[in-house]
Amino acid sequence: MSKRGEQIQADVLAVLRRHGGPLSAYDVLRELHAAHPRIAPPTVYNALAALTERGRVHRVESLKAYIACQCGSHQHASILSICDDCGTVAERVAPDLLESISGVLAETGFAPLRHVIEVHGVCAACGTGQALS
Ligand SMILES: [Zn+2]
Ligand SMILES: [Zn+2]
Repeated sequence: MSKRGEQIQADVLAVLRRHGGPLSAYDVLRELHAAHPRIAPPTVYNALAALTERGRVHRVESLKAYIACQCGSHQHASILSICDDCGTVAERVAPDLLESISGVLAETGFAPLRHVIEVHGVCAACGTGQALS
C-alpha cells in the first residue's frame, strides 16, 4: 500500500474515533477536507473498505454508516446496539451467540460467511432520562 493510502486510513480512523458515533462515508469525507482539501470520494471509500476488512472499523448496515471498533480486536462479528434516540452505537462480542445462529442455519445446509447483527432500541442513558436534550 502507498504511504498516502496508509496516511488516509490513519486519518479516517482518527476521524471515526474522535467522533465516537456512526458516520457516513460522506461525513468522513467532509471531516477530512481540512487536512486533505483535494481528497476524492473513492479514496475515502477505499480507506473505509480496507479498515473494515482489517476489523478496525465496522459498517453499520442499517444506518449506512461506519464506526471505529470499540473492542480493540476480535475474531468474531460484533453485535451492534443502536440507540434510536441519541444515535449511540455500542459494540459487544458474543461468539457463543454467533455459533448458535450458525448452528440453526447449518441445519438447512446454509453456510454462513458473515454475520450482521444490529439491534435498534433505546440506550441506558436515554431510557432513564439522564440524557440532556
Ligand atoms: Zn469491533
Ligand atoms: Zn441513547
